[in-house]
Amino acid sequence: MRRAAQDGIFSESIVFARPANAQQHMAKSRFEYVRTYEQDHALLPNTYIVVRIDGRGFHRFSAHYKFAKPNDRRALNLMNHAARAVMEQIPDTTAAYGQSDEYSFVLRRDCSLFDRREAKLISTFASTFTAHYQFQWKEHFPDTPLDPAMLPTFDARAVLYPSITELRDYLSWRQADCHINNLYNTSFWSLILLGTLSEQQAEQELMGTLSADKNELLFSRFGINYNNEDAMYRKGTIIVRKAEESLDVSAAPTEMSKRQLDREQKKRRKAALVEEHVDIIGEVFWSSLGKSIV
Ligand code: ATP
Ligand code: ATP
Ligand code: MG
Ligand code: MG
Repeated sequence: MRRAAQDGIFSESIVFARPANAQQHMAKSRFEYVRTYEQDHALLPNTYIVVRIDGRGFHRFSAHYKFAKPNDRRALNLMNHAARAVMEQIPDTTAAYGQSDEYSFVLRRDCSLFDRREAKLISTFASTFTAHYQFQWKEHFPDTPLDPAMLPTFDARAVLYPSITELRDYLSWRQADCHINNLYNTSFWSLILLGTLSEQQAEQELMGTLSADKNELLFSRFGINYNNEDAMYRKGTIIVRKAEESLDVSAAPTEMSKRQLDREQKKRRKAALVEEHVDIIGEVFWSSLGKSIV
């Protein structure tokens, strides 16, 4: 049984330990042998696990629900909301970084959730995220009910990083991707929505342009200073579980019932999550909030 389950402090979280006597209750039959065909792939020990979920077919999905272009604030808020819910439910996640229709969840190096079985981990992240995204949809899109013919779903993959260097480079890579895409999309949609170009003409216009050209185009033609665009659009969203707020139950008053304790834990787990839209490539982040990730 896992540490957290023994402590009984994460009873509303995902720990999923089997009862010790589960084996005894399992019906044995002559069919039982097929179980030996199941192949578990355990992720290497002592490495950072990153699980990245990504919306399936969100290009079409965002068109169907008429997302604002290039950035729909409601959709990003919903992604962030679902990611926080996943972090509340899975205590081994130390941080999450999101942009567009994707979120990367960072797990502790010594994470032993599901004995690090890859299939269990990625399917749990994908389904937990999807469940929260769907459940919270109406809060963020109150006037647009979900259409059963166009439901949001997410896939997931797990990647291992041996040291903090690669983990930082991974997160930098996702944030650089956010920047490149957002600068392109902001330019592209400005040419269409504020200019008079068609999608094809806008694409033509931007072909071969560098970052500086796009900044210049935005400023000279539309008076847009790209650096003043919303930080959530430019930087994406980083959620960190602050270490200082770690779940020290020994500090709780002894007369608390288990139920009260659970509620208190849930509250603290929520309070420990800090959400920002900042640069995560430079040192500043890693010598402050980023310290809690490693
Ligand atoms: P894990 O996360 O490892 O899958 P689990 O608790 O989901 O753990 P399973 O082996 O998947 O364990 O077993 C599912 C359990 O859910 C069953 O043992 C049973 O107690 C309960 N269950 C599932 N479906 C029903 C149902 N239709 N009616 C009553 N109980 C059910
Ligand atoms: P796949 O299933 O392969 O991931 P996809 O259509 O989801 O295909 P992505 O590369 O993941 O392709 O791109 C996601 C697309 O979703 C973006 O290109 C953009 O069009 C749209 N999108 C996602 N989030 C937003 C948002 N907040 N505002 C506007 N559009 C968005
Ligand atoms: Mg996608
Ligand atoms: Mg994507």
